[in-house]
Amino acid sequence: MLPSRWFPELQHFPDEQAAPAALLQTRARILQQPGHALLLAGLILAAAVLIALVVIGLKWRFRVDATWLAMLSGVLAGGIGVAIAQFKLRRPMQRDLRRQPVNMGIPVCTGCGYDLRGNTSGRCPECGVQVHTSDASEPS
Ligand SMILES: [Zn+2]
Repeated sequence: MLPSRWFPELQHFPDEQAAPAALLQTRARILQQPGHALLLAGLILAAAVLIALVVIGLKWRFRVDATWLAMLSGVLAGGIGVAIAQFKLRRPMQRDLRRQPVNMGIPVCTGCGYDLRGNTSGRCPECGVQVHTSDASEPS
């Protein structure tokens, strides 16, 4: 399933219904952040326009048949769009998906998503982040 490949954090959810529900909740939360969707669309559009201008400039300057250049720039613009989506959407979604199991009492590293059940060291063995268990994070 693609979502669990993109978001391995979904494995931490206790059942089949909880994971897709959590993913929808997370997506809605991330997209609701003010200006987030608009910023993303703007960045992708800006990258596409920039690449188109460079291609037009190259075609005009060197007077070449730029069909291959147009195809290449389309692929490049798509790649940049995917990269922007990766940084602007996927990472915040992953962070949010790691916090949800922690809130349900399932210890998961918020730094890398490692399952910390049975961990007693207080530190994630995968990434070394200091672990805040639900007991430790409660104010005393
Ligand atoms: Zn970790």
